[in-house]
Amino acid sequence: MTFTSFIPPERTLMGPGPSDVSARVLSALARPTIGHLDPKFVGMMDEVKALLQYAFQTENEMTLALSAPGSAGMEACFVNLVQPQDTVVVCQNGVFGGRMAENVKRIGANLVLLESEWGRAVDAQALDNLLEQTPQAKFVAFVHAETSTGARSDAKTLCEIARKHQCLTIVDAVTSLGGSELRVDEWGIDAIYSGSQKCLSCVPGISPVSFSDRAVDIIKHRETPVPSWFLDQSLVMSYWSGEGKRAYHHTAPVNSLYALHESLVILHDEGLENSWQRHQDMHQLLATGLEKLGVDFVVPQAERLAQLNTVLIPQGIDDAKVRAILLNDYNLEIGAGLGQFAGKAWRIGLMGHSANRANVALCLSALKEVLV
Ligand code: PLP
Repeated sequence: MTFTSFIPPERTLMGPGPSDVSARVLSALARPTIGHLDPKFVGMMDEVKALLQYAFQTENEMTLALSAPGSAGMEACFVNLVQPQDTVVVCQNGVFGGRMAENVKRIGANLVLLESEWGRAVDAQALDNLLEQTPQAKFVAFVHAETSTGARSDAKTLCEIARKHQCLTIVDAVTSLGGSELRVDEWGIDAIYSGSQKCLSCVPGISPVSFSDRAVDIIKHRETPVPSWFLDQSLVMSYWSGEGKRAYHHTAPVNSLYALHESLVILHDEGLENSWQRHQDMHQLLATGLEKLGVDFVVPQAERLAQLNTVLIPQGIDDAKVRAILLNDYNLEIGAGLGQFAGKAWRIGLMGHSANRANVALCLSALKEVLV
């Protein structure tokens, strides 16, 4: 058996992530590796932190990029904040809310599940009612942008309700960061995590996280140590902290962080609000074209994510065959349905660098040819 270099095909990524990574970010990735405690690298990490504070719209000191994917960001929020004696309300309206619930169960804390219909936003009134009856609740957790369904929940209102009931909030922003309006400080979010591979259009495998002062206070005054050594934020923070000498915690993925830095510079150059608007504009363009093809959306208009368009597979169409033709003949990836929507829906991503006119045009013309 002989082995040669792996040369991936050039795809257009319009699935649920990863999204297209720009040549600018890929070339940042290919720059020479330097030591992860090299003063030049540490200086770049400080910029990554400042750029993440901008992307999250926060002044939280504990804002950093975990060397692991979004699921690790999720786990970091839960294992650092939630202890076995705590009650956590998890709002579930798709696959990823279910993963949050699983985290609570594994910690051995008391899980209260608030289920909303898949394909709809989390029901804010139902959360208010539930918290009224659950005075022992300490945390409310929800997914801002449910990638499994394409629904956007009203994070601002859900946080207001949580605060009214003296609860802290844990928010999944894996698919929303950079693509949907998100204001961590203004909305009073206590712990939030995201992923590098969605609307930031960076390579997968990094999870930006941010913790409010209230959340940091809980981490500092825990009765027991955080059960995960790698994800213990008080240890990770001593590596990311701007003050004094950096303590070795683990070897950071140096080149991936160059790539994240570049993708955040691109976001900063464009401007956060312009990026949100671009996602919205591309979504409108796609939605108009899909309508002409007679393809229907799963999510009601007011609750739709611009960056993740979940559409019903038209009657009589072979799901796997169409996606295979798009991939093999058009080099175009769209996503299959997940969970309750497996085999029933497609997920068309317009995330970050992928959210552009050329991609929308390619997707619409390819679908037009394949669906007739
Ligand atoms: N949360 C949401 C909403 C996601 O869409 C994903 C991934 O698609 C995750 C969490 C998990 O992120 P990762 O696959 O990077 O671990």
